[in-house]
Amino acid sequence: MSQSDCVFCKIIDGKIPSPRVAEDSDFICIRDIQPQAEKHLLVIPKNHVASLKEVFPEQNARTEDQEMISRLFSFAGRVAWKEGLLPGGYRSVINTGHEGGQTVFHLHLHLLGGKLRSTFG
Ligand code: 5GP
Ligand code: ZN
Repeated sequence: MSQSDCVFCKIIDGKIPSPRVAEDSDFICIRDIQPQAEKHLLVIPKNHVASLKEVFPEQNARTEDQEMISRLFSFAGRVAWKEGLLPGGYRSVINTGHEGGQTVFHLHLHLLGGKLRSTFG
């Protein structure tokens, strides 16, 4: 379900144009608008989930979303090969909550490859 005030939902819905590096039925991959490394990709689930806090709450685990995290990394791995981040290697980062450096509250995975432009986070 998309959220009207969410920038990533707008990108997923095509309301904000953003070329897709990769896409399947559940995820998109786009380039970060402010890259923090030579290659900086964002892997974003199409369903709006705010953060890992919602996926792994203190109580009442949401099994479907937790299973989605596994598929998120699987999709990211395929993108990493396609984009030449592998076999060399890449950094994967998920910021969670304000104090975790999260600025867009639609869960996403950063993939960073090559030289870092700043201390990330
Ligand atoms: P966070 O700080 O939430 O972990 O990461 C959000 C990321 O989304 C930031 O690195 C930021 O540069 C990126 N970002 C924010 N708005 C847009 C946008 O409209 N398009 C793209 N491609 N990236 C965005
Ligand atoms: Zn969203």
